[in-house]
Amino acid sequence: MSGALAGQTALVTGGSRGIGFAISQVLAQDGARVAIVDIDEKGAVTAAARLEGDGHAGYFCDVGDPGQCRATVAAVTRAQGIVTILVNNAGITRDSLLVRMKDEDWDAVIRVNLTGAFNMTRAACRGMMKRRSGSIVNISSVIGLMGNAGQTNYGASKAGLVGLTKSVAREFAKRGVRCNAIAPGYIATDMTAGLDERTTGELGSRIPMGRLGEPSDVADVARFLAGPEARYVTGQVLAVDGGMAM
Ligand code: NDP
Repeated sequence: MSGALAGQTALVTGGSRGIGFAISQVLAQDGARVAIVDIDEKGAVTAAARLEGDGHAGYFCDVGDPGQCRATVAAVTRAQGIVTILVNNAGITRDSLLVRMKDEDWDAVIRVNLTGAFNMTRAACRGMMKRRSGSIVNISSVIGLMGNAGQTNYGASKAGLVGLTKSVAREFAKRGVRCNAIAPGYIATDMTAGLDERTTGELGSRIPMGRLGEPSDVADVARFLAGPEARYVTGQVLAVDGGMAM
């Protein structure tokens, strides 16, 4: 397939729905072979089959498990080629006020959102460095920049991703591998679908642009950071939030 990303293999975690699927779609449209990696195996396989072009595939992987991440990157490399674009998008929430937060809710969110990105980056980086070419895009959140009552676990995991992004960017820069983060604001996906109308209205009023974002708003920025137009951009955190966190 032709396009700016032709010949590249993109691995997108949590890619079977929401923001991850929208990112998978734009990368496929630009010619990348996409590996959709998700804890929902059927969802990953079905989503990969819906992408434009050929050579895409879906894989089961719990990003919190380092062994599964290594095995998945090896399987993707065998079937689809060396991963040169990695999008660490898989994420979960387990919200509650800090005084009531259970140990398992803290651990689960850090494990998936932060350790998951570390696991995948470590598993995929050797191939990128060997190629002296790669782009890693971590999906953080404005909550990691601004904080939010009731989301101490989520906010810490997303702030941790900012530190991970900048450290990886510095460590890999001379090897031709870039690493950036996107901090989305409130985006209309399953993750935010549970919010009632009043909360959505209140949120909308706190967003200067006056509306929740769409997955495609984030996907277009991920496509930019992953692709050649961002060739001199590394270690950056780009808020995609309608002006919420400026
Ligand atoms: P969704 O909940 O819609 O999708 C998340 C995907 O990640 C699901 O497919 C889910 O699988 C998968 N996933 C969950 N745990 C794991 C795991 N351990 N290993 C692999 N895959 C896993 O989320 P969004 O699309 O809304 O969010 C995507 C990213 O964007 C997240 O990191 C989120 O924190 C971030 N974000 C979202 C915002 C929003 O407003 N929506 C705002 C800011 C950031 P399954 O379907 O089986 O659960």
